[in-house]
Parts: sequence; structure tokens; C-alpha cells
Amino acid sequence: MNGQTILVTGGAGYIGSHACVELLEAGFNVVVIDNLANSKIESLNRVRQITGQAVTFYQGDIRDKQVLTELFSKHEISTVIHFAGLKAVGESCEQPLNYYHNNVYGTLVLLEAMREANVKQLVFSSSATVYGESDSAQYSEHFPLGPINPYGRSKAMIEDILRDLSAADSITKSASPWKIALLRYFNPIGAHESGLIGEDPNGIPNNLMPYVSQVAIGKLAQLSVFGDDYPTRDGTGIRDYIHVVDLVKGHIKAIAALAGEGFRHGGCKAYNLGAGRGCSVLEIINAFEKVTDRKVPYQIAPRRAGDLAECYANPELALKELQWQAEKTLDDMVADAWRWQSKNPAGYA
Ligand code: NAD
Ligand code: UDP
Repeated sequence: MNGQTILVTGGAGYIGSHACVELLEAGFNVVVIDNLANSKIESLNRVRQITGQAVTFYQGDIRDKQVLTELFSKHEISTVIHFAGLKAVGESCEQPLNYYHNNVYGTLVLLEAMREANVKQLVFSSSATVYGESDSAQYSEHFPLGPINPYGRSKAMIEDILRDLSAADSITKSASPWKIALLRYFNPIGAHESGLIGEDPNGIPNNLMPYVSQVAIGKLAQLSVFGDDYPTRDGTGIRDYIHVVDLVKGHIKAIAALAGEGFRHGGCKAYNLGAGRGCSVLEIINAFEKVTDRKVPYQIAPRRAGDLAECYANPELALKELQWQAEKTLDDMVADAWRWQSKNPAGYA
């Protein structure tokens, strides 16, 4: 048991709840703050069912400085994993102020509370959407940033803030410098193998995997495949899908790296978390049909605005510096997503 206490913001959400399981199983104590804006408390009951251990839960908003101050005074937090945020691209275009307030301002309040409590280790949920246009479909961390929607821009702004914060340490010669990992997720899918926790989107899903699952279970009639005329191997869009459990393991590796030699003098570094290979929409459908033995009816629809043809990670830096790489296969991702969907047809409701 390592006994360190980790604060997980947004810990009741899809990725956060999986992180809670892995953290508890690795011997960490876990404190969660979540306002339940996009999640249900039941996810944390399920975390307890899986691990036999409970997290300490604060129902609160990261923009509420008082709650954070109280939380940091009560718990000796070593590292914060910051998942809390709004994440729907389309909604962010309709409600930009809400997205910037929640994601950017929320992070500022969190950082102030961390600084006052002298908690300087942070693992931040960034996204591959921060990358800009590129000639290569395989993205490396040094590629230029250039997000194209308010959600992506909120993530890029937070990355800038965190880089500035870290850079200030070398000017002020801080004795306890910030140690920050920016984890750029590609496409997290799947669920814990128990089928007890998983992705529970509100309303009709925007993302491919929950949509396909809901078609397979009969909640939705058919999938629209957004474009079959891309310059890809079968004409449909290619993405780097990564199992959510692999993804959260990357966070535990990042915590270890922040405490290690590479971050001895502080720093702020970005790491891609992806499998390093792409799958097309039709390949996902085929894998789903094979694993579940169900048909996934689909129609070809026009391209979705803002979509790239192909996007996948160069994951070498995470392997080299975090000793992390994705291990699970596409069949694992599909089988686990399906187990969650079929055991919980109405999500946590
Ligand atoms: P999620 O919506 O399931 O989880 C986010 C959690 O944060 C929710 O439980 C929500 O209630 C909470 N939250 C939101 N605003 C809050 C606030 N102001 N105060 C307290 N809690 C708040 O989303 P997820 O898929 O688990 O994503 C987690 C993080 O990873 C997000 O920051 C997201 O932008 C990022 N990310 C997700 C993906 C993805 O495909 N799921 C990809 C890249 C990056
Ligand atoms: N996609 C699709 N139909 C859907 C949802 C998504 O064909 O109902 C495609 C989309 O065009 C992209 C891929 O599936 O090529 C992954 O989309 P998702 O929204 O899951 O992730 P993102 O676009 O954010 O990478």
C-alpha cells in the first residue's frame, strides 16, 4: 500500500470512475470532487463494489474555492488528477461561455487552491483535439496546436496556463516547483471488465462507440456513418481508440513519473495517450458484430463538419518517459463496452 492521497476532480464521470478503481487497487487513498453535472453518484457505489474500498466524496464544484480550501485542509493530497470539465464539442459551440467558465475558470480556481495548499503535482486531462492541422495523420507531442472549437480551445488554453505556471518557477526559483503532466487522450472507449462501470452519456450519444452500443441493444434504430469518401483504406474516418482502463493506467504511471528523476526540478510536459494505430468506423462496426453476434444496422451519411479523415497517436514518448503503453485489443474494448451496455441498458439510472 503506498498510502498517498490523490484528489480526483470529476471522479464520478466515465474516465474518473475508472481511475478511482485503478488508484484504489494500486493502494492510493482517493478523494473525489464532482458536481454531478454529467454523472451519477451510483458510479462511485460501483467503484466500491469492484474494489471493496470507498473514496471520500465531495459533491461540489471546482469553481467553489471554499470547498476546495476545506478539502485541501482536511486531506493531505499529494497529486491532483483533474478530469472535471465539460466535453461535448457541439454543445461547446452553442454555449462557449459555459465551457470557458467551467473548464478554464474552474481550472484557475483549482490551481489557486492547490498553490495555497502547496500541492504542486497535477495530471491534467487534455485531448488530441488540441492539435492543429497537420500533413501527417500520426500526431506527436511537438506538433503545432490549433483546436477548432470552444471545447478544444478550452483544453489548449488550460495547457497554456499550465505551461506558464511551470515556466514561472524558473523565474522565481521556486523551492517547490510545479510538476505537471498534460495527457492528451485519443479516443477512450470500453469499460471496466466487471461491466459495473462504463460510459453513460446523457441523451443521444455523439461519439461512435456509445452510439454503436445503443444500436446493438435496440435503443437506437441505426448508425449514421459520417462519410465513406475519405482518403482512408475503406473511405470511413480513422481514429485511435484506446481502452479506458489502459488510459487510466497511464495516469498512475504519470503520478510515478512526476515523483521521479525526470521531474526533479519541476516541469510541464505533454504526453499522447493512444494505441498508436487507427481503426475505421467500418472496422469498429465489424468488430462489434463479431464480438456481440448482433447486427449493427447502418447507413452512409454525409461527413460531419470538423471531422478529420484520420488521426492517431505517436505514443513513443509515453512509452519512453512514463513506461506506459496501451495493452488491450479492439476486441477487448468492444467486448467490455458491450458487457457494460448489456448489463446496464439504462446506464446508471
Ligand atoms: P465525464 O463528463 O464523464 O466526466 C467529467 C466529470 O466532471 C463529470 O462527472 C462531471 O459531473 C464533472 N464536472 C464537470 N464540471 C465540473 C465542475 N465544474 N466541478 C466539478 N465537477 C465537474 O467525461 P469523461 O469522458 O470522463 O472525461 C473526463 C475528462 O477527460 C474531461 O476533462 C474530458 O474533457 C477529457 N477527455 C475526454 C475524452 C473522451 O472521449 N471521453 C477525450 C479527451 C479528453
Ligand atoms: N462517427 C460516425 N457516426 C457517429 C459518430 C461518429 O460515423 O454517429 C465517426 C466520426 O465521423 C469519426 C469517428 O466515428 O470518424 C469517431 O467519432 P467520435 O465522435 O467518437 O470521436 P472524435 O470525432 O471526437 O474523434
